[in-house]
Amino acid sequence: MYSTSQFAETKLVRAELQRVPTSQVHAKEMGTTLTVCGEYTTSWFKFWDLPFANILEDRCPKCVAALETRARLKKEL
Ligand SMILES: [Zn+2]
Repeated sequence: MYSTSQFAETKLVRAELQRVPTSQVHAKEMGTTLTVCGEYTTSWFKFWDLPFANILEDRCPKCVAALETRARLKKEL
C-alpha cells in the first residue's frame, strides 16, 4: 500500500530533493487506478516509496477506515 495525493511539491529534505504531498494523502495499491476509498488517481502524484502507514498528517479518513476494516478481516480469517 503506497501513498498518492492530488497535489505535491518538491522540497529539499535532508539535502535531497524529494516530492512531498501537499494535499490529503490517500492509500493506493499497485496496478489500480483507484484509491482505497474509490477516488480516480489518473492525474495524481504517486509516491511509490512512501508507504501509506508512514503518513502521519492529513491522511484520508475513508482510506484509513477501509484499511482498518481489511486488517480486521484478515485477523479473523
Ligand atoms: Zn482516500
